[in-house]
Amino acid sequence: MANCKVIALCNQKGGVGKTTSTANLGIGLAMSGKKVLAIDADAQANLALSLGYTKPDDLPVSLSDIMKIIIEEKMLPNDYGILRHQEGIDLMPANIELSGTEVSLVNIMSRESILKTYVDKMRPKYDYILIDSMPSLGMMTINSLVAADSVIIPSQPSYLSAKGLDLLMQSIARVRRQINPGLSIDGILLTMVDNRTNEAKEIIASLRSHYGEKIKVFKNEIPFSVRAAESSGRGKSIYAHDKNGKVASAYIALTKEVIRLERKKERLRSDGSR
Ligand code: ATP
Ligand code: MG
Repeated sequence: MANCKVIALCNQKGGVGKTTSTANLGIGLAMSGKKVLAIDADAQANLALSLGYTKPDDLPVSLSDIMKIIIEEKMLPNDYGILRHQEGIDLMPANIELSGTEVSLVNIMSRESILKTYVDKMRPKYDYILIDSMPSLGMMTINSLVAADSVIIPSQPSYLSAKGLDLLMQSIARVRRQINPGLSIDGILLTMVDNRTNEAKEIIASLRSHYGEKIKVFKNEIPFSVRAAESSGRGKSIYAHDKNGKVASAYIALTKEVIRLERKKERLRSDGSR
């Protein structure tokens, strides 16, 4: 694909909806006719699990094998280890071995760019590559930020999450200054939103006013629903589990918003190069 977009879903805070959003945005994009690769960059293997691969530790190939091949400068076989999910996306799974690989990166040259080398090899085949990051600002997350063109920041509308965002912004700024100057922030995606509580309403308003100028807050918010929690447990996307529910329609609306945003960026790029 001429113009593959690589989006990392990052937030060092745990349990904010990174994995759920990677799966459902990815499948949403695939339903819109896009070719999508989702990369699990988290040793917890939640992306693979939430898409129905119940034993990620038994998979013959995972991201840590890919990274070892790149570190050792060996030949990477075509489509090596890629799983084809029945809902139309491709998946590069992770498993527990990735935590060992992350530790071993410390002694390696270009340690921040190992994932980028893989992603760049895969770009020609996809419209979108989504990277599900782990809840830390460690070396794997830095690898995600270095490999990506842009970042989506899933965040729950709570006070603590809003404070943690500043730390993430600092890491993004550092990666931009030192390695990946083209990295942009697509926006903050509010997840598990329960509009009935006043706290949620206040935090959303203050997030929008604090970051609203510099950083977009996605217009579409993902509502809280037990159906969403159930769907990851059953290894299904929200579209397969609760097609007509509010979370499915929120992810479809978000998918459209992401596609519109990418079109806008493309227009700006082509205006700029004229
Ligand atoms: P981690 O930091 O551990 O990787 P994460 O940021 O990837 O977590 P998820 O795993 O996507 O977060 O979500 C955390 C939990 O919240 C999961 O049990 C998931 O099923 C549930 N969940 C996700 N989205 C929703 C939603 N919209 N409503 C209710 N529960 C949700
Ligand atoms: Mg996760």
